[in-house]
Amino acid sequence: MTTGARSRQMTAARSAALYDEALRVLPGGVNSPVRAMRSIGRDPLFVAAGEGAEIIDADGNRYVDWVCSWGPLVLGHAAPDVVAAVVEAARRGTSYGAPTEGEVRLAQEIAARVPSVEMVRMTSSGTEATMSAIRLARAVTGRERVLKFKGAYHGHVDGLLAEAGSGLATQGLPASPGVPASATALTTLVPWNDADALRQATSGSPELAAILVEGVPANMGLVPPAPGFLELLREAADRSGALLVFDEVISGFRVARGGAQELYGVTPDLTIMGKIIGGGLPAAAYGGRRALMERIAPVGDVYQAGTLSGNPLAVAAALATLGRLDDHAYARLAETTEALAAGLREAADAAGVPVQLPTVPGLLTVFFSPDPVTDFAAAQECDTAAYAVFCRELLARGVYPPPSQFEAWFPSLAHRPEHVARTVQAAADALQVVARERGVVRR
Ligand SMILES: *Cc1c(COP(=O)(O)O)cnc(C)c1O
Repeated sequence: MTTGARSRQMTAARSAALYDEALRVLPGGVNSPVRAMRSIGRDPLFVAAGEGAEIIDADGNRYVDWVCSWGPLVLGHAAPDVVAAVVEAARRGTSYGAPTEGEVRLAQEIAARVPSVEMVRMTSSGTEATMSAIRLARAVTGRERVLKFKGAYHGHVDGLLAEAGSGLATQGLPASPGVPASATALTTLVPWNDADALRQATSGSPELAAILVEGVPANMGLVPPAPGFLELLREAADRSGALLVFDEVISGFRVARGGAQELYGVTPDLTIMGKIIGGGLPAAAYGGRRALMERIAPVGDVYQAGTLSGNPLAVAAALATLGRLDDHAYARLAETTEALAAGLREAADAAGVPVQLPTVPGLLTVFFSPDPVTDFAAAQECDTAAYAVFCRELLARGVYPPPSQFEAWFPSLAHRPEHVARTVQAAADALQVVARERGVVRR
């Protein structure tokens, strides 16, 4: 049986029925926009279970999962040691609103991995961590303006939604109604990887509290920093008196043991963490030097709090996850990433479809473009209709890619060579369909 024949036998009756019900009680049927799969022109799949590198939908179809909950599941779904740690923690109670030993151990583990982080404060989401890190940066510098890059996503913080990547880019929205003009008035937008624009925005006295950057931008698709660009940010921050804030919600504990700051050798003042830090449960954190972090209440005067912050189940999942992330694990993650990228490139070449396939360890994106993608504008010029065809055809062949070009693929340690092989085989067929439907683009 060919993969094509199998695809025609996949049914979606249960997902369709659930979606119908969901649309009545959840806006768009989902709790986060990109899950709806609108940008690839199909209805969402409802997931019943995850198992290692695979998910099983409500109709019993199995997929190789390259989304892995958008990053947290670096060990894959339902990793036995994570599940055991969470179950064990749950037996002792799910939340206390009082300190626990696990929080201390997790903070120590983070500090050991990320030398720029001497202290952390935990939150429940990356959005919350970003919002809090910016509050701290503003308090420390006595300034209000924040510089961010076009195409970067830092959660749905009011002042940071302008030209944000991820869901906004997927929906084609430049920003969001409901954000006060006063919130965005304090945001300076700079094109990613544009050294001249950066110099312009940071010269004179820009009164910047923070230069905020995804250490490895992965929310306009993966667009790694040009050589030297992060170093330029460090210099610009020092020159202007701003704090350099790395949003490592995706890159943290993924691209290297110590995140993007280790991979590129550039040290930020504050670091925002999320996704992997919750091991698949809701948790995030921000951290930095002791002198900065001790401005936070109750030692300092910067208020920030959270009922479920440092939640014992999330902390247990985090400790179990980080415990598996040794040098060997990072080598394997990088190998899987490169094997997948190489297979996809070959399949694209064979189909005559020009793609760009940037990688860093643990992340990649397939851009349908004959030219390198170095910023948000270039990402927006890619053939997203081709990406949509590619995704739909992959799903029909049992492979679940990120259903938006403005996102990264998330290889995990549960992905084995057979998962890569199945994906590449499905991609070879899918790319033939792309070539037929979108034509072979020539320079
Ligand atoms: C996902 C993400 C966030 C937001 O985290 P949430 O937990 O979804 O609020 C912030 N920054 C980056 C870089 C992200 O990828």
